[in-house]
Formats: sequence, C-alpha cells, structure tokens
Amino acid sequence: MIIVPEEAVAGLLTPADCLAAVEKVFASMAKRSAYNFPVIRESIGHADALYGFKSGFDRESLALGLKSGGFWPGNAARGLTNHQSTVFLFDADTGRCSAVVGGNLLTALRTAAASAISIKYLSRKDSKVLGIIGAGHQSAFQLRAALEQRSFERILGWNLHPEMLDRIRGVAREHDLPFEAVELDRLGGEADVIITITSSFSPILKASQVRPGTHLACMGTDTKGKQEVDAEIVAAATVFTDEIAQSLTIGEAQHAVARGLLAEADLVEIGAVINGTHPGRTSQEQITLFDGTGVGLQDLAVASVAVDRAVKRNAAVEIDF
Ligand code: NAD
Repeated sequence: MIIVPEEAVAGLLTPADCLAAVEKVFASMAKRSAYNFPVIRESIGHADALYGFKSGFDRESLALGLKSGGFWPGNAARGLTNHQSTVFLFDADTGRCSAVVGGNLLTALRTAAASAISIKYLSRKDSKVLGIIGAGHQSAFQLRAALEQRSFERILGWNLHPEMLDRIRGVAREHDLPFEAVELDRLGGEADVIITITSSFSPILKASQVRPGTHLACMGTDTKGKQEVDAEIVAAATVFTDEIAQSLTIGEAQHAVARGLLAEADLVEIGAVINGTHPGRTSQEQITLFDGTGVGLQDLAVASVAVDRAVKRNAAVEIDF
C-alpha cells in the first residue's frame, strides 16, 4: 500500500494536472462509465463535527475508493485546518486498499479544476474581466486555475468580509494583474466570468446584476440550504453541472427547481460538453452557469495522479498491508 502524506501532495501535482484528471472523469461520468455512490454526511455529536464519505468508481481509469472527512470547527484554535479529509484508493481487481492520500490540498485543487474546466468550455473566448465573490481558503485556488483558461486582463472582487480580499489581491499580484475591490453592481456589470465561492445561505448576486454573455461558476453551494445567486439567474442561464443528482439536492439549482423556475431536464452534465455530445455555449449573449457541487470521483481522480507521480519519482512511502 502506498502512502502519500498531506505535505507531499503539493510537490506532486500542478493545477494543470488536476484539470486534466478532473476533465477525464467528468467525461467518463457523462458516458456512464463512472458513477458516484450516495454521499454520507453526519453530525457525529462530538466536537461539533460533521463527518462523511464521498465515494465512487470509474470503469475507465479503474479509480475506486472514497474520500473520508468533514469539518471540525475547533481545529483552527489548535493550529489545524477545520476541513480535514483523506482519500483511500482500492485495487478494482482485488478490493485491496492500494493507497492512502492526504486529501486537504487535493480538495482545493480538484474544486478549482472543476470551475476552471467550466471556464475553459463555457465562457466566451474573448473574456477579459474575471470577477470573484468570496475570499476564503478556496478562493486563491479558484483564481489561479481560472487565470490559466482565458487571457484575463483584470480581476474584480467582492466579499462579505472585505478585509479578506487581500488574499485575492495577492494572487492578482502573483499574475501581474490589476485587482479592484468593488460593489456587486460593478462586478456583475463588468465581469465576463464570475466565480462564487462562499458559504452563503442567501443569494448574494441579483439577476439585475448579471449581464448577457456572462459565465458563472457557482462553487460554494454544496449543501442543502446554501445559496450564492438569485434563483432567477439560474433560471435565465443554461445550467451545467458536475452531477445532476447533486445539483438538484445540494447545488445552486436546488432553489430554482424548488420554485418551479427550472426542471431537471434543463440541467446538462459538463461531461457532455467535454465529450462533444452537447454544444455548450451557443451564442455570445447566452448566460452560462456551472453548478459545481463537488463529487467523490474528482477526489479519486486527483489522488490517483498523486499516487502515480509519487511512485514514478520514488517519493512514495510503501508498506505491506
Ligand atoms: P472559508 O471558510 O475559508 O471562506 C468562506 C467564504 O465565505 C469567505 O469568503 C467568507 O467571507 C464568505 N462568507 C461566509 N459567510 C457568508 C455569508 N453569510 N454570506 C456571504 N459570504 C459569506 O471557506 P472555503 O474553504 O473558501 O470554502 C468556501 C465554500 O466552498 C464553502 O461553502 C465550502 O463548503 C465550499 N466548497 C465547495 C466545494 C465544491 O466542490 N463545490 C469544495 C470545497 C468547498
């Protein structure tokens, strides 16, 4: 069995590696070659923790396994990350555990890869202005991966807690791009691509603030009740998602569907666009929206690459198990 400790992950994978791995598994999902198993998420009644599993199997890559983890709100006070996760991979031929991989950085990288894929396939090719709503841990990863997809010339940002926007400013500086903290009217009025990555439970962006031709990557809504944009925006957009079942239950689409503004049949898996069975964006004026809810197969895909790299570079810790 291979062990890839959390600290080793950063040196093994680039955002581009993660994008390629996640793109492949999204394509496999749309071909029904890969599927996610039902998600388990429980409040364990100890340390205020939420704990669960996301798991699945990809018959094309033979990635089989699960990500186990959750949220421990008291961790920060102990100098630990509140979100904790570990990926377990299994040999699809024998069922033996083949690898254990630290999952914290992988989660950020695979989430950023998903929105970057949506930008690659759905945003207008002439997109120049990138808007981001949210400035927490995930936001920097989101931004770095997005900036690789189009020739963005400037970044606009908004966050409920404005002092956190320094994180976005820092990434803009890394890429030598101008950054401005703006109000939502300006963000929506000027951005060609908007990423939302917050833990909001009520809509932040209003329909009147989004202009035709925008691509939105809504990444923060991954739980029942969370919401980042008006249901009217979702209703007006062509909506793409990683997995339709999750989008309907825990994604941004849950609200538009509950209000009868959107039907299940309106949702398109992004894998269909990758596979070429759906055209994706068909006009410069269309609003496209990616409802990225986060699936276990993304975790397995990037963890598998980390293991392969560790083995090739003789950096893997191997134990008999
Ligand atoms: P974080 O705690 O580091 O940051 C939270 C962000 O949300 C900050 O920008 C904060 O200012 C903002 N925020 C908090 N409460 C808000 C409110 N009521 N209204 C508006 N903004 C608010 O979290 P993070 O690690 O950056 O994750 C952000 C979100 O992304 C979380 O909701 C998380 O569950 C979600 N997430 C989604 C996926 C996925 O695959 N889709 C993966 C990982 C995380």
